[in-house]
Amino acid sequence: MTPGAAGERANEYDATCAHCGAPVPAGTGLLRHAAKGWEVYHPEHAPAPGPPPPTDHPGWHHRPLLSLDITTTGHRFAVDRITGAALRASEGWEREWAVDASGVTGSVPDAEPADHAPEREPGSGTTGQGLDAEHEPGGPAHPRPGAAPAGRPLPPVLPPARALDEVAVLVADHLAAGELLVVWFAPYVLTTLHAELLRHGLAPLTARVPAGVAPVCDPLVLDRHTDRYRPGPRSLHAVAAWYGIPHPHPGDPASDATAALALAQAIPASYPPLARLSRPALHTEQILWYAEQTARHPDAPAWPFEELSPQAWEPPPDPEEA
Ligand SMILES: [Zn+2]
Repeated sequence: MTPGAAGERANEYDATCAHCGAPVPAGTGLLRHAAKGWEVYHPEHAPAPGPPPPTDHPGWHHRPLLSLDITTTGHRFAVDRITGAALRASEGWEREWAVDASGVTGSVPDAEPADHAPEREPGSGTTGQGLDAEHEPGGPAHPRPGAAPAGRPLPPVLPPARALDEVAVLVADHLAAGELLVVWFAPYVLTTLHAELLRHGLAPLTARVPAGVAPVCDPLVLDRHTDRYRPGPRSLHAVAAWYGIPHPHPGDPASDATAALALAQAIPASYPPLARLSRPALHTEQILWYAEQTARHPDAPAWPFEELSPQAWEPPPDPEEA
């Protein structure tokens, strides 16, 4: 009965083809989600599933972008520790850090980080924090600190204060120039970074960039805003796949930062009105869009981050007792 590929849905009622305007009798067409809901097409007129084709137009996505990702011991923003970080610049350079958190966590230096929250998303409602743990079947979900996927040199394992200061210097320089910092699920990354900088006696980004920690570009917020009704998961891996962006090592900060950077360029290429926003306006709009997206999750952290004070280390809660 289903006229298309596996998993595609036929129209339950008589409809009009959104492409040619001719009738589509019930059960003979294909449903496609669109900006304002579902549309029906003749099978031969249905667009291939995927984002709108990119077009060549000016916008902030052609500016210098710097993408930041981290790995941590968990997603208790004021408690958990950063175990790795990566920066990827649209101008071509990248940096990677492995952070020795063993002194505070009590774990051995090559212990697996408990989790990697950029694969989580706000608003999915499967936990009390609105964070959805989605893991990649068969994927190298939890590289240990210092381990890079095959083909790249391992970054040296540095003391936290040194590594975090190096990250903060580069991020602050970029923001001070008025250019966009790309962060997938910014509240997790930037709130954790804020608390960690304070913990180690370092100036937080708020002190390093007196004009404000902006502009930030969160591809998760942009994807939810531009394609609100698309079914399916919104993990970095799933959204990258939707845009045809390679993401070979989910959970590896360098791979995640690279995918987030590519998304920050691809989404506005498919949505020209988004690309037309100024960088300050893009930042401000995301605050509003994120508030809408998390309206049903009052526990969701503020966007782009919260200025939490660091709290003492506690072992992660036993998932059996949660
Ligand atoms: Zn048609």
